[in-house]
Amino acid sequence: MAWFRRTKRPREVSERQRSIVPEGLWVKCQGCREIIYSKELERNVQICPKCGYHFRIDVQARIDLLLDSGSRVELFEGVRPSDPLKFKDTKSYKARLKDYQKRTASLDAVVVVEGTVEEVEVVLAVIDYRFMGGSMGSVVGEKITRAAERALESARSLVVVSASGGARMQEGVLSLMQMAKISAALARLSEARLPYISILTDPTTGGVTASFAMLGDLNIAEPGALIGFAGPRVIQQTIREELPEGFQRSEFLLEHGFLDLVVERTQLKATVARCLRHLS
Ligand SMILES: [Zn+2]
Repeated sequence: MAWFRRTKRPREVSERQRSIVPEGLWVKCQGCREIIYSKELERNVQICPKCGYHFRIDVQARIDLLLDSGSRVELFEGVRPSDPLKFKDTKSYKARLKDYQKRTASLDAVVVVEGTVEEVEVVLAVIDYRFMGGSMGSVVGEKITRAAERALESARSLVVVSASGGARMQEGVLSLMQMAKISAALARLSEARLPYISILTDPTTGGVTASFAMLGDLNIAEPGALIGFAGPRVIQQTIREELPEGFQRSEFLLEHGFLDLVVERTQLKATVARCLRHLS
């Protein structure tokens, strides 16, 4: 029964701690353990100036990073989650949703905006990891599908920034069918020869990796991001083999042909713009 028990691994930072954007005057870097002045971190788009560790950033910061200022219009704001399965674990799904909506001030885990990246017109979807681990339920599925359809109608490029634990288990099969729905919309975009760039940030896992996050004409990741389907512990216990160093991190995946580029956050906007100009 030992493997049922959760053992504490003190050297690893918990998901909860890491999911929070650093606050306070001084922040300890999770990459090099150095203490960094938070203003310096802010100036450096939340990248450690000493070791280059990329802290997670929230949706607004991501939009500010990628889109030209003054060019944005939010789309499909009113799409809200429902609970057709009346799901309940230790807490009802309905109560959980309410809790996250209050904490994040958004209805669900994705924001879609129309805007420009260095004057290239795009539809941009950004997944909010703070909202239930960026899990893909019917709202995330619906809004990303609509984003793809909007790109198709208006002949714009599509950019999706992922940060997700995968499918939203509280929505069961309704969550899983989003994978097929989004993939079909992306296929239509591809037939129209409109570019789609997928940006994978820390962490991108589960059903999101298994669908739209890996379907970009270009799949671009930030350095050091955890990207995979099942977690490393599950894989290790299944295949009973020691996993190689850096397994499921961006650089390892690039080396093994799963990604097209690993781009530092400071270069992301310019890279996306250059790629989009080239692809269209
Ligand atoms: Zn550092």
